This record gives sequence, C-alpha cells and structure tokens, in this order.
Amino acid sequence: MTTRERYIAVDAELAQVCESAGRKRREVTLVAVSKTVGPEDVALAIEGGACDFGENRPDQLMGKADRFTDAIWHFIGNIQSRRIRDIVGRAALVHSLYQERHARKIDEIARERGIVQDVLLEVNVSGEQSKSGLAPEGVKALLDACASLPNVKVRGLMTMAPQGDLEVARKTFAGLRELRDALQGDYPDLTELSMGMTDDWREAVAEGTTIIRVGRAIFSEQF
Ligand SMILES: *Cc1c(COP(=O)(O)O)cnc(C)c1O
Repeated sequence: MTTRERYIAVDAELAQVCESAGRKRREVTLVAVSKTVGPEDVALAIEGGACDFGENRPDQLMGKADRFTDAIWHFIGNIQSRRIRDIVGRAALVHSLYQERHARKIDEIARERGIVQDVLLEVNVSGEQSKSGLAPEGVKALLDACASLPNVKVRGLMTMAPQGDLEVARKTFAGLRELRDALQGDYPDLTELSMGMTDDWREAVAEGTTIIRVGRAIFSEQF
C-alpha cells in the first residue's frame, strides 16, 4: 500500500469504529503524524484526504507547515523554551504543554504576534516514570495559571498510554476523560481529548477521544 492508500484505510476504519462506539466520525480529528517522513509523503497523505498533521520537532514543523500552508499543523513534541518562537502560530494546536514557564513564554510570543495560541495540557495519567506531563493532581494549578494568560487558550487534555496492553491503554484513556469531565464544570472550554496512536486509537475512540494522533499506520510501509 502507498501512504495515500494507508491514510484512506485508517480514515475508513475510523468511520467504522466511531459507528460501533455510537459516535459521529466528525467528532474525531485524525492527525497524521508525519514526524518520520518527508514532504513527499505529506503530499501523498493530502491526496488521500488528510487535513491535519502532527510534528514533534520544531524544525520539521517549520519546514513542513511553511510548505503545506493549507494543512492544519499540530505540535506534539517536547517543548523547549528557545524553540517556542518557531512553534507559536505555526501550530494551530500545541498538544504538549505541561510547564507554567512555557505557558508564559507562549503567551508572550503570541501577544507580540497578536494571536491566541490554542494548547492542550499533557497529563501523565499512567504515572510511568518515562512519560512526561503533569500528574493529574497538578492539572488544575496549570489551568488556573493559564487563565491569567490572555494569549494562551487551553482547549483540552492530552495523554500517551503505556504501550503493549490495550486494557491498560483503555483505562488510561478513561482516566483522562474522567479528569476532563471533572474539570469541565469550572473550565467549560476544556472540550478536547488528544489520545490514541497507531496501536491504541480504537480504545481511545471508545473512551471519547476527540483527536487521534496516528503515525506508523499511515506512514510506515510495515502497515
Ligand atoms: C510519534 C507520536 C505519535 C504517533 O505514534 P504512532 O505509534 O506512530 O502512531 C503520536 N503521538 C506522539 C506524541 C508521538 O510522539
């Protein structure tokens, strides 16, 4: 299969999985994670109907977002202070904010540019040592800090599940949804849940995800 065909296949399966879960396809955004491929494959995914792309390195985001200006770009990688300038405005949505100092810097640069940057807060729901993100108990404090930053808008939460056990993944996704639901009374704009990747997006759809981030199933020849 080609990248174009793999994108079409994932998109079609997503429609089916949404239907089985009693959800509407339009409730879930499919982000094609193009971090391992070049612009040729981005173009092929676009031919297959892709609109949203994810990158985890600022230089890759810059190169591709500036070339494919009609696509919607998502930043899903580790945030470094000195690269925030390259991300703000280029990424329609930053999925991986978890430090207040980065929130302040994003706010400052977005203000200079006269824009409001949409972000998600990354949460380490599973508690794995190797994973970055806020502890669930820390989410409220960062939401409160962001509430006083006029050029940063928190749209929801993001998590990564432990790999290798779909039951554990599903519990992790349920945990993020429950956290979002519990916070939504005080923070009504917290509508998005970014959860689910190549191996576990079906579980995420069942648990209410609104954004899945799929890389290998679209861009790897092994799929
Ligand atoms: C690479 C990556 C993905 C995509 O992973 P696949 O398993 O290839 O689908 C999703 N989210 C983040 C944060 C990533 O770094």
